[in-house]
Amino acid sequence: MATSIQLEKIVKRFGSHEVVHGIDLAIDPGEFTVFVGPSGCGKSTLLRMIAGLEEISGGELRIDGERMNEVPASKRGIAMVFQSYALYPHMSVYKNLAFGLETAGYKKAEIKQRVQGAAEVLQIEPLLQRRPKQLSGGQRQRVAIGRAIVREPKIFLFDEPLSNLDAELRVQMRVEIARLHQTLGNTMIYVTHDQVEAMTMASKIVVLKEGRVMQAGRPLDLYNAPANQFVAGFIGSPK
Ligand code: ADP
Ligand code: MG
Repeated sequence: MATSIQLEKIVKRFGSHEVVHGIDLAIDPGEFTVFVGPSGCGKSTLLRMIAGLEEISGGELRIDGERMNEVPASKRGIAMVFQSYALYPHMSVYKNLAFGLETAGYKKAEIKQRVQGAAEVLQIEPLLQRRPKQLSGGQRQRVAIGRAIVREPKIFLFDEPLSNLDAELRVQMRVEIARLHQTLGNTMIYVTHDQVEAMTMASKIVVLKEGRVMQAGRPLDLYNAPANQFVAGFIGSPK
C-alpha cells in the first residue's frame, strides 16, 4: 500500500542560480527518510519540488513509477507539515481538522470519522473543542500533524516541524512522530538540520550539502563508514 518515490537528476534553478544540482534518490515504500544538512543546502526546495509547490527545473520525479513533474500539488497524494503551524485561532481544534475536508466537499459523516481517527492516533481527543490558544506548543503541533492525517495522504513530508519547540518537547515529539510512522506505515520524508534528530529518527538518512547528496544510507552505516570528511563531521562519527 505504501508508496515509493524516485528522484532522477533533479535540478532546481531560481533564475540563473542553480541551487539543486542533479539529485538521484530512491525512497522505498514505507521508509522514514530524513534529509539533513546545513541551512541553505536545499532541503526545503527539494521537499517543495516533491510536494509540487515548486517547479522542477530538470530531471524527473516519479511516485510509484509514475512521472509527477507536471502533476499539480493537490493530485499528488502528499501532505506537508511545516514548522509554523498556522492554526485558525477562531476555530475549535475539531474545526481546524475538519476545515480542509469541508472545503473539499466531503460528507459530514466522513469528516467526523476522519477527524476522530486522527484525534485518536495523536491522542488529542479531549482537546477537540478547545481553541488553539488554549493548547500547549506540543498540542498545537499535534493538531498541525492531524490536519495532514485527515487528508489520508500517501506521503507525509515534514519540513523542520519541531524547530520552534523547546528541547524537551522536541524529544517527546520525535517519539510521537516515530510512533505515527509505525501506526500508519506511510512513506515519510522528514527534513531537519539537527543531526541527533536525523540519527535517531531515520530508517534512511540523506546528507545534503550545497544542493548535492553527500551520502545516503542507514544511519549506522553512515556513522561507521562516512563517505567523506563532511559526512563524518556532520554525523559526528570518529575520524
Ligand atoms: P534549506 O531548507 O536547506 O535551508 P532552501 O531549500 O531553503 O535550503 O534553500 C536552498 C537555496 O536556494 C538557498 O541558497 C536559498 O537562498 C535558495 N532559495 C530558496 N528559495 C528561493 C527562492 N524562492 N528564490 C531564490 N532563491 C531561493
Ligand atoms: Mg528549509
